[in-house]
Amino acid sequence: MSQRTLTILKPDSVAAGKAGAILAHLEREGFRIAGVKKIRLAPEQARAFYAVHRERSFFGGLVRFMTEGPVIVAALERADAVPHLRTTMGATDSQKAEAGTVRNLYGTDIERNAIHGSDSPENAAKEIAFFFAEAELI
Ligand code: UDP
Ligand code: MG
Repeated sequence: MSQRTLTILKPDSVAAGKAGAILAHLEREGFRIAGVKKIRLAPEQARAFYAVHRERSFFGGLVRFMTEGPVIVAALERADAVPHLRTTMGATDSQKAEAGTVRNLYGTDIERNAIHGSDSPENAAKEIAFFFAEAELI
């Protein structure tokens, strides 16, 4: 059965002009784009989106990174979308991401890693609702 997940093409990959290549990579992996938009996150939005990490030492840097330029957020659909996107992205640290994964191809390090993907179906639903009204998803 089809499942939804949320991706964010982060400011590094968007600024590098890799958004189209990454969306094409995701489509090749069988993801259907149910909704997509380009936005610039406000610091308050980035803090809220990553609230689970607010006590971590990297939180301030992460919020700065995620607000340094525009991002592309997309709701994606396919069977097992959540685990399949995590596999397609590769490890959090781009330097350790498996060959051919999005983070290996387009990321730089553990912070500037090109792409976000939800980590569970529950969080995917919350993260999609963070950016999209149900009527915006087709
Ligand atoms: N991050 C970082 N330093 C770290 C761990 C994570 O800057 O030591 C950033 C990185 O951009 C990562 C995001 O914080 O994608 C969220 O971290 P998480 O552990 O949720 O990794 P993900 O789910 O994105 O693989
Ligand atoms: Mg995560």
